[in-house]
Amino acid sequence: MTAALYAGRAGKSVLVIEKESVGGQIIYSPRVENYPGIRSISGADYAVGLYEQACALGAEFLFDEVVSLKDNGEDKTVTAGQKEYKSKSVIIASGVRHRHLGIEFLGEGVSYCAVCDGAFYKGKAVAVAGGGNTALSDALFLSNICKKVYLIHRRDTFRGEKKSVEILSKKENVEFVLESNITALNGADTLSGVTVKNNKTGIETALAVNCLFVAVGQEPSNAVFASVTALDESGFIIASENCKTSASGIFAAGDCRTKDVRQLTTAAADGAISAIAACNYSE
Ligand SMILES: Cc1cc2nc3c(=O)[nH]c(=O)nc-3n(C[C@H](O)[C@H](O)[C@H](O)COP(=O)(O)OP(=O)(O)OC[C@H]3O[C@@H](n4cnc5c(N)ncnc54)[C@H](O)[C@@H]3O)c2cc1C
Repeated sequence: MTAALYAGRAGKSVLVIEKESVGGQIIYSPRVENYPGIRSISGADYAVGLYEQACALGAEFLFDEVVSLKDNGEDKTVTAGQKEYKSKSVIIASGVRHRHLGIEFLGEGVSYCAVCDGAFYKGKAVAVAGGGNTALSDALFLSNICKKVYLIHRRDTFRGEKKSVEILSKKENVEFVLESNITALNGADTLSGVTVKNNKTGIETALAVNCLFVAVGQEPSNAVFASVTALDESGFIIASENCKTSASGIFAAGDCRTKDVRQLTTAAADGAISAIAACNYSE
């Protein structure tokens, strides 16, 4: 939507194709406190504000799923639903989906983003689920804010970098809970703890925590673009800070591209960069 408002302001005709609802992942966040210039806002309100801004600057919205993208050289063909749309350039901003643990909890206290929500649990006990680099860096980040951090992983060793494991193992407020699966999320409206089951012994233990940070991976949904743009081994579109993909006139912005920090600010920055690049390309 940031790309749409930049391109709209530059006088281009802009069509945003969205398969679900405007705003993407952020609509699931009750509170956003790290977007510059906005003290605190719900993700849904932020999304609506951005949608209205993009519309006011001339962007049109179509609610349908993009099922194919063809690069015809001079122009591109996007198919959504049963219809084809021709454009001079395309900005892909298909985002990611966070993998879930498969345990339902409808109340507060389960987060998929430590950087976003960690500050809400200052001085409290939290758990991180996962064994890769994201889980390790989340645990490290949280160990500087929270009283206690349980790092729960189903295997006996972490997949992430050894150096991070070393640093974490020296932190007094971090406890590794290895070879264990989370079997229950406890609490009614608010999380009060998690139950973990040791895979070897079968013993179940209840850990009192105020939040569980799930870091078991993110899934980009870029398969539909794979025939025109290069993807990395995890399925992210290969593009750097200039948002250029392997195909000229096709740009990638936000969480869907290769990058280190997946946040609103970085997605918005990509939106601006990709829109300006797309405007220049189409001229
Ligand atoms: C619970 C939660 C809380 C968060 N809190 C914060 C926070 O406090 N601060 C912060 O900075 N970041 C936060 N984030 C991260 C932030 O939401 C993302 O970094 C940001 O939304 C990325 O924006 P994006 O546009 O790149 O992708 P997304 O938000 O993932 O949007 C992608 C959109 O593309 C659509 N789409 C995908 N494929 C297709 C297709 N084939 N056809 C049509 N439409 C398609 C999807 O439906 C989706 O709406 C949070 C994330 C989550 C999940």
